[in-house]
Amino acid sequence: NVAIFGATGQLGGLTIDSLIERGTAPGNILALGRNRDRLAELAGRGLRTARVDLNDAATAAGVLDGVEKVLLISMSEPGRRVPQHAAAVEAAKNAGVRQLAYTSVLDAPTTVLALAPEHRATEELITASGIPSTFLRHGWYTENHRQEFDAARRTGVIANSVGSGRIASAPRRDYAEAGAVVLSTPGHDGKAYELSGDTAWTYTEFAAAAQEVLGIPVRYEVLTPAKEQKQLIGLGLDEGTAGFLGTLNANMRDGALAPAPGELSKLIGRPTGPLIDTMRSWIG
Ligand code: NDP
Repeated sequence: NVAIFGATGQLGGLTIDSLIERGTAPGNILALGRNRDRLAELAGRGLRTARVDLNDAATAAGVLDGVEKVLLISMSEPGRRVPQHAAAVEAAKNAGVRQLAYTSVLDAPTTVLALAPEHRATEELITASGIPSTFLRHGWYTENHRQEFDAARRTGVIANSVGSGRIASAPRRDYAEAGAVVLSTPGHDGKAYELSGDTAWTYTEFAAAAQEVLGIPVRYEVLTPAKEQKQLIGLGLDEGTAGFLGTLNANMRDGALAPAPGELSKLIGRPTGPLIDTMRSWIG
């Protein structure tokens, strides 16, 4: 049986769907999270559930007893994740689990991506724990670009400082399926999978795809980093958040999310979902 930290979130929900589609009985899945309504919904579908807040390690103690495999979905508050993940790893170690899979980030050991240090630190503490582990190193989710698509719909313009940087995004569903494969098939111990979409696109291509889907002219405008900061602050973002987004865009400009080694499609046994298909799902 399998336990999932982050089961109440978007990726967790899709991973659960995929596990069940692949034949795992709902009663063999232990869903862990904080959101009581969501936990109740999952219990209603026959899953086992437990409320765990990884800000309070005591809530994780003992919940994994009898569990064979654990998927630790990275937590959602950058800056707080290392102690949260450490609490989950500690619980897994104490329970003697046979496999721990962790959703890390693409090229975690070497990437310049500003989000990477917490993932790197988590991979290191998992390795140090001695639990047989699998790293699912995620690239970008296509869904991260929904707001830009909506902006294109309203204004016909997408503007940022990414320029000609490429992004090999894939839909969340594909990453979720990869997690389900790793949890339900043998042979993944000690592996690190570099997961990303099959196709790395530029924003010029993103704008062309949006234009096709929306049926209105859409153009991509490259901003200087300084102009981008001004715009973000003009939109009401605080300086810290605007600066962080600017850094992420610089990382994308530098190609941190461009690698497309094809490992995700190989793991799920089909091509990753194309950008334009996700866009079509956004217009309903
Ligand atoms: P969600 O925000 O939908 O889910 C986050 C999950 O983490 C929820 O189940 C939430 O539980 C749980 N969680 C957060 N804090 C705690 C805590 N203190 N204790 C216990 N559980 C906690 O994110 P997604 O499913 O969309 O994404 C999964 C992860 O992937 C994110 O958390 C983030 O690390 C990363 N990510 C990666 C992206 C990429 O493009 N590669 C994009 C977006 C996220 P609850 O809701 O019950 O509080």
